Amino acid sequence: MIYLDYAASTPLPKAILETMIPWFCEDFGNPSSSHYQGRKAAKAVERAREIIADKIGAYPSEIVFTSGATESNNLALKGIALARRDKGRHIITSSIEHKCILSICNYLENEGFEITYVEPNKYGEITSASISKVIRDDTIIVSISHVNNELGTTQPIREIGALCFDKGVLFHTDAAQSFCKLDINVDDMYIDLMSVSAHKCYGPKGIGALYIRDLRETKVDPVIHGAGQELGLRGGTLASPLIIGMGEAVSQSGLYIDQVAIGEVRSAFLNELGKYCSYTINGGVSVIPNILNITIQKLDIQSLMRDEELAISQGSACSSMAIDISHVLRAIGLSFEQGEKTLRISLGYGYTPQKAKAAAATLAKHIS
Ligand SMILES: *Cc1c(COP(=O)(O)O)cnc(C)c1O
Repeated sequence: MIYLDYAASTPLPKAILETMIPWFCEDFGNPSSSHYQGRKAAKAVERAREIIADKIGAYPSEIVFTSGATESNNLALKGIALARRDKGRHIITSSIEHKCILSICNYLENEGFEITYVEPNKYGEITSASISKVIRDDTIIVSISHVNNELGTTQPIREIGALCFDKGVLFHTDAAQSFCKLDINVDDMYIDLMSVSAHKCYGPKGIGALYIRDLRETKVDPVIHGAGQELGLRGGTLASPLIIGMGEAVSQSGLYIDQVAIGEVRSAFLNELGKYCSYTINGGVSVIPNILNITIQKLDIQSLMRDEELAISQGSACSSMAIDISHVLRAIGLSFEQGEKTLRISLGYGYTPQKAKAAAATLAKHIS
């Protein structure tokens, strides 16, 4: 198999799995239990919380564990919207957010909130000026993802964060694609809430976290009510093996994620592909090296989709069964014909320039 879909999910390294196994089998105590077994699991969970907090310049007390970035986004947007609905009912996001943000916003719209969807420029960038134009006195939260999951475009979130800070509006960013890949400091970037996921950075599926600035003083309504876990914000027994696996993935991320090396892999891939066809790269200049969004005019998409050897995302993984092209490609101005011939190729651990060349040659089999 030639896997070129690391932006959809990454493998769990065996070394990380090994660290998780004892917490499933021997030290399986409930982290909320007060006996020794419970306290032992709780201690390991707290260690993971520290690792994640350290990675983004936050306090451990500001991290809530969730089932992944989708749930973190739900907690961030619904949690703040419901807690602040008496202060205002206006929310700003963009038209190129991950499907889950758009569907949460659609839900909130039906619940009486007003959503403004800022449009990107043709490079897929959301400028702080475009947010500044639509921010209002009754705006309660702005949500813009750090790195777009289809284009790889990095948004100027520090500028957007600073703008929100000046206006006294909360700023949330979905950092599922940037966490452990780009340097993030929640203070320097004026981030108030941030969603992350483990399985995008070599951790297990089914675990993620939400950073909430000054969590103890910030009113957020829970989405999952429970028995008081996570300061009452997220009910349910803490998934200790997954949380510990996420902590390991974050602390060992330097081993699996090397954005400089991936940049060389990307160049090798493009050089090789260029021998077979011409292409255009979407997403502007500030694109993360591990994601490549390209339109190949002569691509035979039917033939590519039948190829069981190649795992490549057409448009975006979540909507690749859809008839229309993705909302992101539409928003940057691609036609249906162009969108149909557009691929998101995402690279990751284990790729060398040599292996990338071979992958490009295999893809080239589907060029007519
Ligand atoms: C993958 C992804 C999600 C969903 O994350 P899960 O942990 O799978 O729920 C949300 N937002 C972005 C930007 C993503 O890339």
